[in-house]
Amino acid sequence: MAKYDYDLFVIGAGSGGVRAARLSAMSGAKVAVAEESRVGGTCVIRGCVPKKFMVYASEVSNQIKVAQGFGWTIPEATFDWKRFIEAKDVEIARLSGIYVANLGKAGAELVHARAVLKDAHTVELVGKDMTVTADKILIATGGRPTVPNDVPGIEHAITSDEAFHLETLPKSIMVVGGGYIAVEFAGIFAGLGVETTLLYRGPNILRGFDDDVRIHLTREMERRGIRVVLGTQHTSIEKTADGLLSCLTNDLKLTTEQVMFATGREPHVKGLGLEAAGVKTKESGAIIVDEWSKTSVDNIFAVGDVTDRINLTPVAIREGAAFAETQFRDNPTTFDHEMVATAVFSQPPIGTVGMTEFEARQAFGEVDVYRAVFRAMKTTFYHGEEQMLMKVLVNPQDQKVVGVHIVGPESGEMIQLAAIAVKMGVTKQQWDSTCAVHPTAAEELVTMKDKYIPPNMGAGA
Ligand code: NDP
Repeated sequence: MAKYDYDLFVIGAGSGGVRAARLSAMSGAKVAVAEESRVGGTCVIRGCVPKKFMVYASEVSNQIKVAQGFGWTIPEATFDWKRFIEAKDVEIARLSGIYVANLGKAGAELVHARAVLKDAHTVELVGKDMTVTADKILIATGGRPTVPNDVPGIEHAITSDEAFHLETLPKSIMVVGGGYIAVEFAGIFAGLGVETTLLYRGPNILRGFDDDVRIHLTREMERRGIRVVLGTQHTSIEKTADGLLSCLTNDLKLTTEQVMFATGREPHVKGLGLEAAGVKTKESGAIIVDEWSKTSVDNIFAVGDVTDRINLTPVAIREGAAFAETQFRDNPTTFDHEMVATAVFSQPPIGTVGMTEFEARQAFGEVDVYRAVFRAMKTTFYHGEEQMLMKVLVNPQDQKVVGVHIVGPESGEMIQLAAIAVKMGVTKQQWDSTCAVHPTAAEELVTMKDKYIPPNMGAGA
C-alpha cells in the first residue's frame, strides 16, 4: 500500500501550479490540486488576461482618432462598460474551463477547497472536514494586492481585483502607484474616457526600468490626457458628497469618483500553515527556495509569485515545468532567470529585455548606447504627435547586446523576438547584419549605426 494518499499535492491552481500538476500527472504520478477560488489563478481570473481584454477595449478610442486621419468618418462612438464586462466574464469562464479540462485530461484530481499545511506531508482541506497526505507538496498560491494600511480611509479605495468588476465606469479615477499595474490601468481608464490621474510617490514612474523608458512613457501618457502627479502620496482618503477626496502630502487635495491603489503585490502565504510544516520565508512573506524551487523542507517546493523571484506568468509556468521535469520525469531541470523579457501594457506599451543603461554602466563601466526617438510612418500620416523610443545597449568590451528597450505600438510583440537573439548572446555586428523588414517601425532596431551621445556630452565632453 502506498505510504501517502498522493505522490504530489499542489496548493493553488494558477499558472505555475497547473503546469506542474499536469506534467507530473502525465508522467504517471498521482496528483491532486487544491484551489479555493476559480481555476486559472491571477493571470487568467484577475490579471494578465482580463487586463489585456481591457487594454484592447480601451485602445479603440485612439484607433478611432487615427482612423479619421486615414479618411474615415465615424459617427460618435459610445462604449458600453456592462456589455464589455459581461463578454469579458464569458471569455474568462471559458478559459478557466479549459484549465479545468486540461487538468482532468492529464489525470490530476481537482479539489475545490482551501488547503492548509499541518506538517511536511499532511494537508487539511478546509470545509471538507478531511486531511490528505502527499509525498511531495508544491505551493503555488501566487500573490495578492497590498495597500498601505496606515492611510485613513483606505477602505474606500479599490485594487486591481475590484477594477475588473466595477458596476459602472467612473467619470474620474486616481490610480496610485508607479509600477506595472498602475501604468497599465491608467492607460485603460484614460482610453475608456475616464478622467485619469496617475499618482506616484517617487520622482519618476516605473522604478527599475531604463530611465529613458520611464521619461518617454510619462510624456506619452500625458500626451494621451493622463495627468501624472509625482512626488506625493496619500495622507488620507475621505468620502464626500462629490466623491473621494484624496488628501496628499505637499498640501495637495484632489477629488475623484474612484481611487485605485496599485501599490504592489505580496506573496499569498497567510493561513497556509507554513510554520507547522517548517517552511521558511523572507520578511516579505516570500517562500525561500533554491534553484530547484525546493523550500527549507526537503519534500516541499514552491513556484511562482509566492516565491517573489520574477513575478511573471511565463516564469511561474517555467518554474512549475522545471519542478515536474526534475521530480517526476527524471530530467533534472532548472529555470534560468536571466534575460527574461517583459512587456508592460501601458499605452503606448513597453517591451524590454536585459539591463537598463544604469545597470550596464554599473556592470561594465561604460556602455555603447544606440537610441532612436521618432514618429512612426503611420503616425506622421495622420499628423499624430506620438513618438517611439528604441534603445539597444551594447557592452563595449565584447560587443554583446545586453539590453533592448522599446516604447511604442507592438513593442510587446517585438521584444519577444529580440529576446531570442539577446538570450543567445548576439553581438552588435550580428544584430546589424540582420536585414531590415520594410516598411515597419521595428526595422529601426537594426538600422541604428551611430552611438548615441547625449546632448550635454557633445564631442570632447
Ligand atoms: P510594482 O511592484 O511593480 O509597483 C508597485 C508600485 O507601488 C511602485 O511604484 C511603488 O513605489 C508603489 N508603492 C508601493 N508602496 C507604496 C505606498 N505605501 N504608497 C505609495 N506607493 C507605493 O507592483 P504592481 O502592483 O504594479 O505589480 C506587481 C507585479 O505584478 C509586478 O512586479 C509584475 O512583476 C507583475 N505584473 C506584470 C505585468 C506584466 O507582465 N505586464 C502586469 C501587471 C503586473 P516605489 O517604486 O517607490 O517602491
